[in-house]
Amino acid sequence: MGHWEENTAKWYEQTMVYCNVCGRIIPKKFWIVEQGTQKLVFCNPDCEQLHRDYWLPAQNQNA
Ligand SMILES: [Zn+2]
Repeated sequence: MGHWEENTAKWYEQTMVYCNVCGRIIPKKFWIVEQGTQKLVFCNPDCEQLHRDYWLPAQNQNA
């Protein structure tokens, strides 16, 4: 499951943060989903759902 994080930690201080799904710049509050060692960043849980419904099946079809 994901969780909300605010733009205070080091790893995004220096760079713009973009949603992994829709590509929008996220100014303040991110929806973070940790997958193993990876951190995926979304605008909100709706974008996470899009990621599961759209991106992951598309990747499986390529395999
Ligand atoms: Zn988004």
